[in-house]
Amino acid sequence: MRTDLAVIGAGPAGLAAALAAAAYGLRVTILDAAPAPGGQFYRQPAAGLRAGRPQALHHQWRTWERLRDALAACDAEILTDHHVWAVECGFTVHALHGPGRQESAAVRAEAVLLATGGYEKVLPFPGWTLPGVVTAGGAQAMLKSALVVPGRRAVVAGTGPLLLPVATGLAAAGAEVAALVESADPKAFVRHIRALAAKAPEGAGYAARLLRHRIRFLARHTVVRAHGEHTLTGVTVAALDSGGRVRPGSERHIPCDTLAVGHGMLPHTDLAESLGCRLDGHTVRVDGEQRTDVPGVWAAGEATGIGGATLALAEGHIAGRSIAARLRSREPDPREWTAAATVRGRLRTVARGMDAVYSPPPSWTEQITDDTVVCRCEEVTAASVRRAVGELGAGDLRTVKLLTRAGMGWCQGRMCAPAVAGVAGCELTSSTRPFARPVPLGVLARQHEDTTEEGAS
Ligand SMILES: Cc1cc2nc3c(=O)[nH]c(=O)nc-3n(C[C@H](O)[C@H](O)[C@H](O)COP(=O)(O)OP(=O)(O)OC[C@H]3O[C@@H](n4cnc5c(N)ncnc54)[C@H](O)[C@@H]3O)c2cc1C
Repeated sequence: MRTDLAVIGAGPAGLAAALAAAAYGLRVTILDAAPAPGGQFYRQPAAGLRAGRPQALHHQWRTWERLRDALAACDAEILTDHHVWAVECGFTVHALHGPGRQESAAVRAEAVLLATGGYEKVLPFPGWTLPGVVTAGGAQAMLKSALVVPGRRAVVAGTGPLLLPVATGLAAAGAEVAALVESADPKAFVRHIRALAAKAPEGAGYAARLLRHRIRFLARHTVVRAHGEHTLTGVTVAALDSGGRVRPGSERHIPCDTLAVGHGMLPHTDLAESLGCRLDGHTVRVDGEQRTDVPGVWAAGEATGIGGATLALAEGHIAGRSIAARLRSREPDPREWTAAATVRGRLRTVARGMDAVYSPPPSWTEQITDDTVVCRCEEVTAASVRRAVGELGAGDLRTVKLLTRAGMGWCQGRMCAPAVAGVAGCELTSSTRPFARPVPLGVLARQHEDTTEEGAS
């Protein structure tokens, strides 16, 4: 299949870009692993559930309706259930689809937009592998796509703005939310008040909802242990002192059957890295037009920095316009996206403020007992990681991986790397992976045959 622009990711960023580019006459193909467009923010209930009021679980529903209707009215092709595992320079986008993801599809494009969003960061603690412990975003996804609550009595814990919609969403859907346990210090908000002023009305809205649902808000607290034999029965939470350490004697037990936990988000950068795009820390580096430093590759939304759906929309819009102009060999005029650029500038400032306020307590690794599993795929415990550092002399993430197998399993370290790095006391470095998704060997073999045949003809 040939197209002008391949957009990878049908979240707010990808959809805004696709619509902007299609409006200028570009042939656009959008690929997304999910069964429907919308991304994480506009995740839709499965059609078979016939949700009467899906908007009840969403914010900014009108924006979604506008995106959805514009998408239906434009010529952009959308390939859902397509898991992109690689993008070859030039560009060929390779995806897996079909039952068991055994079938492959290739889309050839003049330009690529990476709008792959972000994923949750979850740090371990004793008991975190018990059934009943879910990620905050996972709980939200269950609610939005399957219309189910993960349990009856929940605690929502960790750090970050995502905890607020999760706690209030679970409560609105009928779960009893015993507490929202946030490790951030309220004083940090005061220190960053200027950057965060734009978020004050939203914050006030959540405060009102927490009150309405009688959700106890425990700021500067953390979960130190999840309890249960075969399934979760409760959690121990403790207060943090001004240095972010657990205050001895402040522990208290909260009975619950669900713990929704999250410690922020990380951008999806696999495809960008395998294409050779430069990163700034953990985010894809882009210029004012959302171009990466690889010609023909643009990036927008949370792949370029965690900042929320409205920022993703603005960046996507700018990227789409820039791509439309550049593919028509025209110098884009930034005046075409002045409003989006203003929103982008304002929300990037907010995102920096959020980053400064929400961070896991610096002492989180002190709570991790030796028998706590840190890499779930390979069942590597904290003791193994500590031994690799202390006895065997590992000083970086890669050596810890080689000595313990932490990060060698199904997720290839995407989920456990921050935990392993924390426990090992080394820097969280990005590791370039050749494939963004696991690929069956048969698909790779067929790929090789196809390339060889093409070369011979
Ligand atoms: C689990 C989760 C739940 C969230 N819930 C909320 C919430 O309730 N409220 C809130 O304000 N914010 C929430 N967020 C944050 C919010 O979703 C983002 O701010 C916003 O959606 C970012 O838009 P985006 O377009 O950059 O990325 P996303 O909306 O994340 O879209 C990225 C899309 O790319 C697709 N994708 C990624 N990699 C590939 C690949 N290799 N192949 C094919 N497709 C791929 C994904 O399927 C996804 O649809 C959540 C985030 C996560 C991770």
